[in-house]
Amino acid sequence: KPVIEVNGICKDYVMGDQVVHALRSVNLVIEPGEFVAIMGPSGSGKSTFMNVIGCLDRPTAGEYLLNGEAVARMGDNALAEIRNKYIGFVFQNFNLLPRTSALKNVELPLMYAGAKGRTARAKKALELVGLAQRMDHTPAMLSGGQQQRVAIARAIVNDPVLILGDEPTGNLDSRTSEEIMAVFQQLNREGKTVVIVTHEEDVAQHCKRIIRFKDGYVRVDERVEKPVDAR
Ligand code: ADP
Ligand code: ADP
Repeated sequence: KPVIEVNGICKDYVMGDQVVHALRSVNLVIEPGEFVAIMGPSGSGKSTFMNVIGCLDRPTAGEYLLNGEAVARMGDNALAEIRNKYIGFVFQNFNLLPRTSALKNVELPLMYAGAKGRTARAKKALELVGLAQRMDHTPAMLSGGQQQRVAIARAIVNDPVLILGDEPTGNLDSRTSEEIMAVFQQLNREGKTVVIVTHEEDVAQHCKRIIRFKDGYVRVDERVEKPVDAR
């Protein structure tokens, strides 16, 4: 089954007597193992789309099946549960707890889930992103790229079906962006489904598919013929 299947997704924002059509009937299927870049100019609906597929917001109309579950009309609590169960988030600003070790930051989702063997699993996730030697460091002691690795470890520690990145390289120089994209490529090769928003064409060329939004609709949906190896 697809990881993401959206049919006729619309999102309207009402502002006084104005209505903004942020998404206008978007249809998309994203299968397991895909690596997708979401692009488009400012105001084209990328954030709105990510908020909907990330179960942070509900569409005004349309269907959304996440891993086969109809989530478009779920209440806040059910949606929060779905988020924790299926999705790992990576942000532009890393969103780590500043005074907490890398290891504890990565353990957090497991604590919320009440999972067993938390420390061992968090260590394994940090190993996967190449940061096992720094697990006792706090974010302040880490570079931006290292902090983003911690955030990626936190995103994967629960073994989600979907990793969502909201401009995950937006605060990193191009060298470090490459390193982070290499981590995403590795996770994707291991079978993870990854969807990121990016403004950078170079970053998108590391993905296997590019979806370009314009004015709330999908203007282009294309395969990347030869995704560039990041390293
Ligand atoms: P992008 O991420 O591509 O910049 P957005 O999804 O943020 O685009 O915005 C799409 C459109 O919806 C824009 O016209 C934006 O101003 C509008 N919009 C986004 N969020 C809100 C909101 N919370 N309230 C009102 N309008 C919004
Ligand atoms: P980006 O494109 O970098 O994601 P945006 O400027 O589009 O950032 O939006 C940042 C946040 O502000 C989004 O979460 C969006 O919901 C909100 N937002 C965007 N446009 C509006 C708006 N016109 N009114 C209220 N909130 C908005």
